[in-house]
Amino acid sequence: MPELPEVETVRRGLQPVMEGARFLKVIAHRGDLRWPLGQDFAARLEGKTVEGLGRRAKYLLADLSSGEVLVMHLGMSGSFRVAHRRGKAMPGRYYHERARNAAHDHVVFHMSSGARISFNDPRRFGMMKLVPRAELDREPLLRALGPEPLGNEFDAATLARACKGKKTSLKAALSDQRVVAGLGNIYVCEALHRARLSPKRRASTIATKAGAPNAQRLVDAIKAVLAEAIAAGGSSLRDHRRTDGELGDFQHNFRVYDRAGKPCPTPRCNGTIRRMVQGGRSTFFCPVCQR
Ligand SMILES: [Zn+2]
Repeated sequence: MPELPEVETVRRGLQPVMEGARFLKVIAHRGDLRWPLGQDFAARLEGKTVEGLGRRAKYLLADLSSGEVLVMHLGMSGSFRVAHRRGKAMPGRYYHERARNAAHDHVVFHMSSGARISFNDPRRFGMMKLVPRAELDREPLLRALGPEPLGNEFDAATLARACKGKKTSLKAALSDQRVVAGLGNIYVCEALHRARLSPKRRASTIATKAGAPNAQRLVDAIKAVLAEAIAAGGSSLRDHRRTDGELGDFQHNFRVYDRAGKPCPTPRCNGTIRRMVQGGRSTFFCPVCQR
């Protein structure tokens, strides 16, 4: 499943061909993805200009000249493919010839930038929905989301407050979108290892000491691991692709994720990475240096 760094990578790939461009033609090959696309989906997009392409957690938000926002989510297997019409100049690296099953190209945008943007989603857990900009704050998908992990509002005090009194594991707390938005299994494991905090630790314990040094270390680790993953273009797990068709390469930088049995990479730690199951998901951690 694409995580926040992958979604940010996709946003940066789409930005040059979407921002400032108009939807000339929109083709929806079906009326629904995970949920219905909504009434007059194509007609509400055609002729409208994308004023900005932003991101909230793992949602892409295209601000339209009509006053609506196109909310998009990649789900489990969604990806965008950007192509320029034959004979036209291709901006940089966004064109990539690939053999993809076009049967899963559910929505296609023809943009005034000359780009054809196809949304491909074999498993159809992705979504697209038009929401009036004024109602975005009340949108059920976005309303309950906690702070953006890379934003200034996410700091040690905020995290400590969100974990206060929580009896769940630290892993479960960080995976809770109300505590911090957009963190998934991989980056929770990676951040906990960098912060040398056990995924099994009770969430409330990161806030017990004065000044919450554990919370500070954890916040720093979360921001660092996400920033590095974004810089590397996302982690490209399973069938996820960047918009230019290339695989991201952050997976080569995982310290614990999917590395059970390997030596712990923490300097001077002689532990071995272990796998356990928490809340139905695999957790990878070092039992020696993560406390
Ligand atoms: Zn270790």
